[in-house]
Amino acid sequence: TTLLSRHVRTAELSPIAVASQQAARLQAQGRSIVVLTAGEPDFDTPLPIQQAAIEALARGETRYTATPGTLALRQAIARAYARDAGLTYAPDELIVSNGGKQIIYQAFKATLDEDDEVILPAPWWPTFPDSVRICGGTPVAIPTRAEDGFRITPAQLEQAIGPRTKWLLLNSPANPTGTVYPQNELQALAQVLRRHPHVLILWDEMYEQIWFTPSRPTHWLQAAPDLKERTLLVNGVSKTFAMTGWRIGWGAGPAPLVKALIAVQSQVSSGPNAFSQAAAQAALDGVAADFVLQARQAYAERARFITTALQAVPGLQPFPPQGAFFAWVGCAGWLGARTPDGRELTNDQDVSQWLLEHGVAVVHGAPYGLSPYFRLSFAASLEALEEAARRIAQAGAALT
Ligand code: PLP
Repeated sequence: TTLLSRHVRTAELSPIAVASQQAARLQAQGRSIVVLTAGEPDFDTPLPIQQAAIEALARGETRYTATPGTLALRQAIARAYARDAGLTYAPDELIVSNGGKQIIYQAFKATLDEDDEVILPAPWWPTFPDSVRICGGTPVAIPTRAEDGFRITPAQLEQAIGPRTKWLLLNSPANPTGTVYPQNELQALAQVLRRHPHVLILWDEMYEQIWFTPSRPTHWLQAAPDLKERTLLVNGVSKTFAMTGWRIGWGAGPAPLVKALIAVQSQVSSGPNAFSQAAAQAALDGVAADFVLQARQAYAERARFITTALQAVPGLQPFPPQGAFFAWVGCAGWLGARTPDGRELTNDQDVSQWLLEHGVAVVHGAPYGLSPYFRLSFAASLEALEEAARRIAQAGAALT
């Protein structure tokens, strides 16, 4: 027998954490490293949101809350969906958790039997396949292509669906590519799904407020309102309001499904942090609406800068992001090249190592399910990004 269960044995430790730790080790040795690994806003949580938490503490909101989250927060989430997307959700169709990550886990835990399949467009956020595996399911990859904007096509979806398919997971704006599904493509995917009523849809909209398209992207349920009864929305305050450490995310879906997620949560963690919920409520009610706009503009400017800068580096192909805060950079042009001391770059991990030697920490594409690429987070100051672009260009120029 081995220590680890079969399900956990096949899951991998977060490659992002590994890359960040490696960068931190080099920094501790005194090396200058521009760290662009983490998917975390570089902004502080806006003060009015902090203030709401302080006031909640002063009111004594320091106890267990209802397992699915406070009624007040679930009502604020419902108001936000009605206001921003014209969607109606009742409190028993909402569950608040310790981040959207826990919602995803609980959704799989509550629904997957051994060998049930979850369709994942690749590249993916590595938590998706590993969460599926930990819950005993099987991830089924649909590799996307740069010429399709790293989005799956209806034909690919039709091919991937089988009798064991439980979920299709869509993430838009996407981590790691920054791609955004336009309305007509969502409608075309919905057409396929209507033919397969046994498939649930997990719509991860964690980056929904961070978009650089001419107008706000179409919501999945605006494109396919009739699929609401088999859709679980996953969202949270981490990215929109720079609240990663507060650990508040939520799921919105049909009441029987949400009830099952609550049952899992009641044995895993109970309700999330009481005063974080008060802060999230204030955030959703708009105490920092100006911040959301300013952050979106800042990310858009950085997206333009880093895309232009990396397009100018021979051998690199950055995908122009339409949302989120990542540059997804093709590096096929660097494979086969040699470093001055004669090492050949054979895959995207070699490329990310070479960049690290030049003082830029990124995450290589393989753990995201598509190679050869690397992901660079531009949730960093323009100065840091300028320095990173300079170093990446130097790393490229040193290759022969
Ligand atoms: N979904 C995606 C695509 C993400 O990138 C993240 C965070 O990195 C999450 C969900 C979960 O965020 P949190 O658990 O902080 O709510």
